[in-house]
Amino acid sequence: MNKPILLSTPHMSDRELEFVKEAFDTNWIAPVGPHIDAFEQEFCQVTGANHAAALNSGTAAIHLALQLVGVKYGDDVFCSTLTFSATANPIVYLGAKPVFIDSDRVSWNMNPDLLCESLTDRARKGKLPKAVVLVHLYGQSADIEAILKICNEYEIPLIEDAAEALGATYKGRMVGTFGRIGIYSFNGNKIITTSGGGMLVSNDEKLVNKARFLAAQARDPAPHYQHSEIGYNYRLSNILAGIGRGQLRVLSERVAARRRNFEIYQQTLKNLPGLEFMPEASFGYATRWLTCLTINPELFGTDREQIRVALTEQQIETRPVWKPLHLQPVFAGYESIGGAVAEDLFTRGLCLPSGSNLTIQDLERASDAISTVYDSKSKNRTFSIVDR
Ligand SMILES: *Cc1c(COP(=O)(O)O)cnc(C)c1O
Repeated sequence: MNKPILLSTPHMSDRELEFVKEAFDTNWIAPVGPHIDAFEQEFCQVTGANHAAALNSGTAAIHLALQLVGVKYGDDVFCSTLTFSATANPIVYLGAKPVFIDSDRVSWNMNPDLLCESLTDRARKGKLPKAVVLVHLYGQSADIEAILKICNEYEIPLIEDAAEALGATYKGRMVGTFGRIGIYSFNGNKIITTSGGGMLVSNDEKLVNKARFLAAQARDPAPHYQHSEIGYNYRLSNILAGIGRGQLRVLSERVAARRRNFEIYQQTLKNLPGLEFMPEASFGYATRWLTCLTINPELFGTDREQIRVALTEQQIETRPVWKPLHLQPVFAGYESIGGAVAEDLFTRGLCLPSGSNLTIQDLERASDAISTVYDSKSKNRTFSIVDR
């Protein structure tokens, strides 16, 4: 029986346990403590952000970010359509309405031209959105400068969802640090993990302090418990921040390993027709958090779904590219702008096993399995000609 090869699993170094042990030894088993402060500071050093608040998920970070830029009931919020539902769910938590924007082919992220057109149109109608949530998908930066320029023109705050893109850069600078607020995730499948966790960053210290305040039940400064605002229980625990400190120290190794995965797939699959890897846009350096490709069924002989099923039978986990949010039943009825590119990437796109802990043998087994699907299909093609 072959051992399972999974999409993306946690990959600890030898440092995390030391930090966790320190938390135990000092009895800082709480959502406050020295690891949290240190994790925030070290995160700023690594990303170049000025201020950071450690939270218990990326979703919580998006929720607070939207609230901090003033999103309220009934507002419109523009949002990438090709992403995980957690990008848009918090828009709905606040009673606001997501408007989904299609991808471009260069980065698979939000199409700046489409954003520009629709904001111009909205400005004319006096119906500008309250915020733009920009996703950096699969470890690749969106075209940030173009998008930021348009947002600045209309004075719309940009929130960067860099949950999948810690370590990726845009023109040499870390993604997540360009917008009014950036968010990251340390969920178990991300490039580094605290088992669950997130970070909110901004260059505006007041915003980040407010995020910490809201995340800790919005307690007023008083000796008794007093509250003037509705708060949340969104702080990261000191133990998990310890794991994060260990993980942060190996981030660049994790990026290198994921990029190596990509290169091996590219080498081993290069002779198969109809496969096209997610491009790396010229403006950025991608982490290749997941290696993704699209399949042209006419050239390859079979479609994405048949490849996925064949690999599952061999205990190799792959996953379709995100189903665009404008196609999700839960978001039916919300507006979308374009969508054909994201739909095509979903229909033909597949994410391959991409963990930084995969061996060369694992990667070759996954590649061989894809080649085998191709070979069996090309045999069928020959037989069908003979049959006729
Ligand atoms: C993982 C992810 C999130 C949510 O992060 P959690 O920490 O799991 O809450 C948000 N957006 C994107 C694009 C993600 O991939």
